[in-house]
Amino acid sequence: MADYDYDLFVIGAGSGGTRASRVAAAHGARVAVAEEYRVGGTCVIRGCVPKKLLVYGAHFAEDLKDARRFGWQVPSDCEFSWETLRDNVLSEVDRLNGAYKKTLESHNVEIIDQRAVVTGPNSVRLADGTEKTAERILIAVGAHPAVPSCPGHEHGITSNEAFHLDAIPKRVLIAGAGYIANEFAGVFHQFGAHVTLINRSKDILRGYDLTIRDRLLQISMMKGIEFRFDATFEGIEKMDDGCLKVSMSNHEPMIVDLVMFATGRLPNTHGLGLETAGVELDDHGAIKVDEDNRSTCPSIYAVGDVTNRVQLTPVAIREGQAFADTVFGNKPTRVDYDCIPAAVFSHPPMAGVGMTEAQAKQTLGSVRVYTSDFRPMKNVLAGREERALYKMVCDGDTGRVVGLHMIGPDVPEILQAAAIAVKAGLTKAQFDATVALHPTMSEELVLMR
Ligand SMILES: Cc1cc2nc3c(=O)[nH]c(=O)nc-3n(C[C@H](O)[C@H](O)[C@H](O)COP(=O)(O)OP(=O)(O)OC[C@H]3O[C@@H](n4cnc5c(N)ncnc54)[C@H](O)[C@@H]3O)c2cc1C
Repeated sequence: MADYDYDLFVIGAGSGGTRASRVAAAHGARVAVAEEYRVGGTCVIRGCVPKKLLVYGAHFAEDLKDARRFGWQVPSDCEFSWETLRDNVLSEVDRLNGAYKKTLESHNVEIIDQRAVVTGPNSVRLADGTEKTAERILIAVGAHPAVPSCPGHEHGITSNEAFHLDAIPKRVLIAGAGYIANEFAGVFHQFGAHVTLINRSKDILRGYDLTIRDRLLQISMMKGIEFRFDATFEGIEKMDDGCLKVSMSNHEPMIVDLVMFATGRLPNTHGLGLETAGVELDDHGAIKVDEDNRSTCPSIYAVGDVTNRVQLTPVAIREGQAFADTVFGNKPTRVDYDCIPAAVFSHPPMAGVGMTEAQAKQTLGSVRVYTSDFRPMKNVLAGREERALYKMVCDGDTGRVVGLHMIGPDVPEILQAAAIAVKAGLTKAQFDATVALHPTMSEELVLMR
C-alpha cells in the first residue's frame, strides 16, 4: 500500500468540509483540512449566521413601532447604531470560528491555515509550496459571489463586504432577485436606507411558489422597497462626490450610495488544479460527482456548493457526513434530496417545502390547493396591514400533501416542523385530524379550506 501523509485531505473548512473532516477522523482516519480564509466557511463567517443576526436586528425597527400599540412607551428619538450591531455580530462570528476550530482539534484533525490546490489524484500543494499526499482528497471549497463584468463593477460590493460596512448608506441598489438580494433588501430597508432592487427578468425568487413570492413583492413595495424589472446592468460610474451612477437597460440611470451584487454564486473551482487529476466540471464550473460524491477521479470526492446541487448549509453538512460514513465508517449513506425545506429571511419571511403549485400541476394528474390568507392577530392589534398566506398543495387523487408554501411572521420556524409531515407523506386528512393549537398562526395548517 502506498504511504500517504494522510488518509484524507480536505480542501475547505466550511459546512461540508468541517463535518466530513470531523466524522472521518472519528471513524479513525488521519485527516488534515486546509482553509484559506476562516474555519467555519461561508455559513458561519459571511452567510447564514451573520445574515440571520442582521435580520433579527432589522426586525426591531418594526417591533419598536408596533410596541407602542401594545402599551410600551418607546421614545420617538429611539436610535439605531449600526456599529454596535455590526461589531456584536462580528464578535459572535469570532466566537463560532473558535468553536469550530476547537471541535476539529479535539477530533485530532490537523488544521492548515493555507490555500491548497490539487496536483494529482493523491497530492495537493499548499500556498507555502509544501506538497502533501493523501489516499483520498475531498474538495469542499464552496462558491463565491458572481459579479457582472460591466464597466465600473469594482465600485460595487457583494454580500461578503456587506457585514463590514462603516455605515448604512442612504440609497442602496441591489442587483439580483434571489434570496440573498431579497434578504438584504429587507435588512437595509429596515435600517432606514432607500432600497431599489433591480433584476434582469420580471420575476423575483424563481423556484418558489408564485403566489407566495407575489405576496412578498406586494408587501416589499408597500413598505417602500422599489423594484426595477427587465433591467440589465450596463455600468457604474463613480461621481466626484463619491456617489455611484448606475446605468441599466430599459430604465433611467440611478444615483445611489451603495451597489450590492447578489447575482448568484459560482463554484470555487478556478485555479484549483483539478485538471491535474482528471476531475471534470459541468457547464457551470461545478465538480461533477456521482451519488456517493465521487468525482471523475476515483480518489477525489466533492461536497457542498462546489458541486452546485443544492446550495444550502444543511445539504453540504449531510453530504459531508454521508461521504465520511460511506468512505471511512463502513456505513454506505446517500443524501436524499427530496423535500428539502428552504426559507427566505425577508421581511416578512417566506418558507417552502416540496412541489410548488405549478410543479405539482406539471407532475401529477390532479392537484388540489388549499390556502389560508389571514392577518396575524399581532399585526391586527399593531395596525399593520400585512397579511400572511399559507398554501398547501395536495395530490388530488390521494390527498397527500406534496407541497407547503408560506409567507408571514415566523414561517421558517413553523415550516421546519410541518416539513416532517410533508416528507413523511401525510395527507390533508391527517393534518386535519390534528387538533388546532389556539391561538397560533400555525393552527391554520390544520384548518385550511
Ligand atoms: C449571504 C449568504 C447567506 C446565506 N444564507 C443561508 C441560509 O440562511 N441558509 C442556508 O442553508 N444557506 C445559506 N447560505 C449558503 C451557505 O452558506 C452555503 O450553502 C454553505 O456554506 C456551503 O458550504 P460548503 O461547505 O460547500 O462551502 P463553504 O461554507 O463556502 O466553505 C468553503 C470553504 O473553503 C475555503 N476555500 C476555498 N478554496 C480554498 C482553497 N483552495 N484552499 C483552502 N480553502 C479554500 C473557503 O475559504 C471556505 O471557508 C448563504 C450564503 C450566503 C453567501
